Amino acid sequence: GSHCDDSIVSSVKIPTIKFTKLFINGEFVDSISGKTFETIDPRTGDVIARIAEGDEEDIDLAVKAARDAFDHGPWPRLPGSERAKIMMKFADLIDQNVEELAALDTIDAGKLFSMGKAMDIPQVAATLRYYAGAADKIHGDVLKMSREFHAYTLREPIGVVGHIIPWNYPSTLLFMKISPALAAGCTMVVKPAEQTPLSALYYAHLAKLAGMPNGVLNVVTGFGPTAGAAVSTHMDIDAISFTGSPEVGRKVMKAAAESNLKVVSLELGGKSPLIIFDDADVDVAAQLALTGILFNKGEICVASSRVYVQEGIYDEVVKKLVEKAKAWVVGDPFDPEVQQGPQVDKKQFERILSYIEHGKREGATLLIGGKPLGGKGYYIEPTIFTDFKEEMLIAKDEIFGPVMALAKFKTIEEAIERANKSRYGLAAGIVTKDLNVANTVSRSIRAGTIWINCYFAFDNDCPFAGYKMSGFGSDFGLDALHKYLHVKSVVTPIYNTPW
Ligand code: ADP
Repeated sequence: GSHCDDSIVSSVKIPTIKFTKLFINGEFVDSISGKTFETIDPRTGDVIARIAEGDEEDIDLAVKAARDAFDHGPWPRLPGSERAKIMMKFADLIDQNVEELAALDTIDAGKLFSMGKAMDIPQVAATLRYYAGAADKIHGDVLKMSREFHAYTLREPIGVVGHIIPWNYPSTLLFMKISPALAAGCTMVVKPAEQTPLSALYYAHLAKLAGMPNGVLNVVTGFGPTAGAAVSTHMDIDAISFTGSPEVGRKVMKAAAESNLKVVSLELGGKSPLIIFDDADVDVAAQLALTGILFNKGEICVASSRVYVQEGIYDEVVKKLVEKAKAWVVGDPFDPEVQQGPQVDKKQFERILSYIEHGKREGATLLIGGKPLGGKGYYIEPTIFTDFKEEMLIAKDEIFGPVMALAKFKTIEEAIERANKSRYGLAAGIVTKDLNVANTVSRSIRAGTIWINCYFAFDNDCPFAGYKMSGFGSDFGLDALHKYLHVKSVVTPIYNTPW
C-alpha cells in the first residue's frame, strides 16, 4: 500500500543545479532587474535553487535576439539537412545526460525518476530526431491554375515563435513545441513554467553545445502574468504556441488579438472519458482506468478523469479498482517501486483537496482515498468518486490530480451522450472487443485522440489537437510542423502576356 511518512526523500543523488540564469542570444545572463525566484522541491516543500526572474524587458531582449537570428542569421537559410544535423547532435547530447535531466524534472515537478529515465527524456530526443528527419522535406506544391499561369507554393518558416510551457511535463511539452519549430527554421523564445524552470535551462546549454546558432533558442524563466504576458503581447513575435489552463489560454489569445494578431495555437486540457463496455476484460479495463487517472499523479491533460462502466460488469470493475488503488504505491518519486509522487506545488495540492471536498458536498460517493499523505510534501491518496453527474464540478473541471469520477451506464447511446457532455474534447478511451461498438463510439465522440483498448498511446507521428475548449492547433505529427510554416503562393504568366 501507500508508504509515505515524514522522511520520504530517498538516497538518490540530487544533481547540483548548474543553470539558473536566463538564456538569451547564446549566453546565460541575469535578469535585467536582478530579481530571482525560488523553485521548490514538492517532495519536501524546500527550496532547490533561486532562478533568474525574467520580466517584460528580458522577454524584449530575447525577442530582439530571436528576430535578429531570424532576419539575418543562418538558421532559416540553412539547408534543412544542416538544421537536421544540429538537431540530431542536440538529441545525442540529451541521450548522454538522461539521468541528470530526469533527476531535474523529478526534484522540480515530483515526477517519477524511473519514468523520466526510461521514457520522458529518451522520448524528447526521439521527438527532435523525428522532426530533424522532416527538416529537409519541407516543400510546397506546383499549382494548376485555371488560366495561363505558372504557380507554386513555398513553405516558409513562420518567424519568431513564443512557446509558453506548463509544469506537468517540463521536458516532453518543451520538445513537442520547439522541435517542429526548429525543423521549420523558426527562431524562438521559450517561457517555461515558474514551477519547473530547471530542465529547460539545461536543454538550452545542450543546444549551444550542439552548435545551435545564437538567438535561435532563447529561454526566459519567470512568472506568467509578467514574462508570459510579455510574450503574448509582444509586437515582434509572429506566432505563439501555448499549453496550459483555459483561463490563461483565453488571456493569451486576447493579448495576441490586441497586439499584432500573432498566430495562436492553444492546448488547454481536458476531462477525458474512458468508456468500458460489458464485453471488456475486467482486469485489463480496471488497470487502464486506474493508470489513466493516476499516471503522473493525474497531472496530465489527457487523464481519464471520467470513467463510464456498463452495468453488466460495473460491480466487478469497482471491486478491482479498489483492490488496485489500495496496492498503488505513493511516495518518493526517486524510489523505483513508487508509482505516484507528490503534486507539483502547494497551490495544486490545495486545489485538488478542495475539489475533493466539493465532490463530497455535491453528493458524489467517495469510494476510496480523498486525503493528503505524509507529514510534508504534496502527496494525495488515489481517490475515486462514484455516482457522479456531468453537472457536478468534479466532472466539469479539470482537477489535474489523482481523482477519478466513476459512473454506471446502460446503453451505447447513453455512454456517447454522457461522454460528450463536457466543454473539453481532448481525448477519450474505449474498452471493448466489439469492433462495431469501437468504430461507432470513435466517430461519435468529439475529441482529438481516441484510444481503443489502450490509453496514453502517444507518438511523435500522431497529431494531438483538441476539440471544443481543449483548444486548437496540432502538436506532434507533421501537422505540428505545418503550424510553424507559412504558405506563400508565387504566380507568373507562362507566356509573357499581360493579363
Ligand atoms: P497551470 O494552471 O497548469 O499552472 P497555467 O495556464 O497557469 O497552467 O500556466 C501555464 C503557463 O502559462 C505557465 O508557463 C505560466 O507561467 C504561463 N502563464 C500564466 N499566466 C499567464 C499570462 N497571463 N500570460 C501568459 N502566460 C501565462
